[in-house]
Amino acid sequence: VTLKRRKVVVIGGGVTGLTTAFYLQQAAKEQQYPLDVVVVEASLRVGGKIQTMRKDGFIIERGPESFIDDSGNVCRLAHDLGIAHKLVYNNVGQTYVAVGKELYPIPGSLLLGGPPKVSSFITSGLISLTGKIRAAGDLVIPRAAENQDEPIGDFFRRRFGKEVVENLVEPLMAGTFAGDIDHLSIQSMFPEFSQLEKEHRSLLLGMKRKKAGRLAIDHFAEQPLQYGTFEDGLETLIETLEEQLAPSTVLKGVKVEAIEKLQDGSMKVALNNISPIQADAVIMTTPFNAAKTVFGKYEVMQHQPLMKSATIATVTMAFKQEQLPKYKDALNFFVSRNSDLAITSCTWNNRKWDGVAPEGYDLLRVYIGRVGDEAIVELSDSEIERTVLEDLQKAVDLKEGPLFTVVTRWKQGMPQYTVGHEERVQQMKRELYEEFPNVMLVGSSYEGISVPDCIEQGREAAARMLNKMME
Ligand code: FAD
Repeated sequence: VTLKRRKVVVIGGGVTGLTTAFYLQQAAKEQQYPLDVVVVEASLRVGGKIQTMRKDGFIIERGPESFIDDSGNVCRLAHDLGIAHKLVYNNVGQTYVAVGKELYPIPGSLLLGGPPKVSSFITSGLISLTGKIRAAGDLVIPRAAENQDEPIGDFFRRRFGKEVVENLVEPLMAGTFAGDIDHLSIQSMFPEFSQLEKEHRSLLLGMKRKKAGRLAIDHFAEQPLQYGTFEDGLETLIETLEEQLAPSTVLKGVKVEAIEKLQDGSMKVALNNISPIQADAVIMTTPFNAAKTVFGKYEVMQHQPLMKSATIATVTMAFKQEQLPKYKDALNFFVSRNSDLAITSCTWNNRKWDGVAPEGYDLLRVYIGRVGDEAIVELSDSEIERTVLEDLQKAVDLKEGPLFTVVTRWKQGMPQYTVGHEERVQQMKRELYEEFPNVMLVGSSYEGISVPDCIEQGREAAARMLNKMME
């Protein structure tokens, strides 16, 4: 029997789209299934949020700078691409939180992680004595009555009190996800904690019993989690994916404008500047808001509200090491709202990673902007640079200006999984798939923002789609 040749259009050439296309082509080849895969990417380069700049011996990440690969998804992809030997992991160091005018080290076992060591509560200046007593209340406070989603802020305030949330949980969340803890969903962002409460009632006791396991971000875990990236930066992954796709798989500089159903069950993918493509299946990997527009002609998805995303900027600056004489042990610091800094976090990338800066230089990467506090990102590059420099002078006693500064703005760049996210996504997918059985929605708006989560979604979508095609 000769099988009919099928065509799958993957919309978006970020890490999700490229991973999807790679695994689709690989599986089709293995199964000897005649499949054409086209990736349509609106911009002139692939990689989406992953963007590495290599300059005068510095490696600068404009978007994400690393990943926590608990699930092994990146490792597996690196293996399949033959670049596992290029994976590199971070060096460790001290994390601080800026509260008021001071930086306070976070003791390794403070709060979450390991047996609750009363000594670290008592010695840490980050939380007042009253705050510490309230936090220890976690040991006796009953679990929540209902099995319902709630904001991260409410969850931790209930368990540990207001001060721990203000000086620890909120800064870590703002500096990592640019998120508003009063809207982000505990169930979608930290299902592990929700589960701990259900199973053990007290988070501290639960973690002690479970040895904390590997939780979502390392500040909350007993052992610091390892961050990974690739030699020469994250874009190594994108470059290798692109190289290994079949020739002319990717259409760059072409935007998908609409998807329409055709009589025979196939779809017309309308493009902004070239003729439409007829597709048997479509895998959408763009952010949700872009996907919604593409289906604008139909009712599906249209009643779903636009998804909120935070607008943030990353700012990377290089300094001679003598310009930063203080905090020689610091790996990074996060910023509490109880301080007058505009930045939300700062990392010494040259300490975290070998080989990202020439000898004798510090490479600082700063985040600015969070949900509800984004005006700062609208300033000009030089105004952003000035704000960051002023903050660094206040926080770490920086002397004089940088060798260079790279400002990268991410407008609506960080999706926010607000309370009820999981349920909304499931409903949206159900509705869409009923109307468009050969369309799939994957990527950072749905089942995980992180690079490993995006890779997992892409790999699974590829497998499911090929099975569907072969039915
Ligand atoms: P994207 O990278 O957004 O790719 C989507 C692509 O679709 C884009 O290239 C876009 O041009 C294209 N597109 C959109 N609309 C259309 C259309 N109509 N037609 C054709 N193409 C279209 N994750 C981590 O794991 N670790 C981190 O340290 C980390 N830090 C981050 C820091 C920043 C500043 C940001 C912004 C994100 C960070 N993330 C991090 C999250 C992670 O980078 C992203 O979630 C992930 O890269 C998203 O990949 P994606 O392929 O799903 O989407």
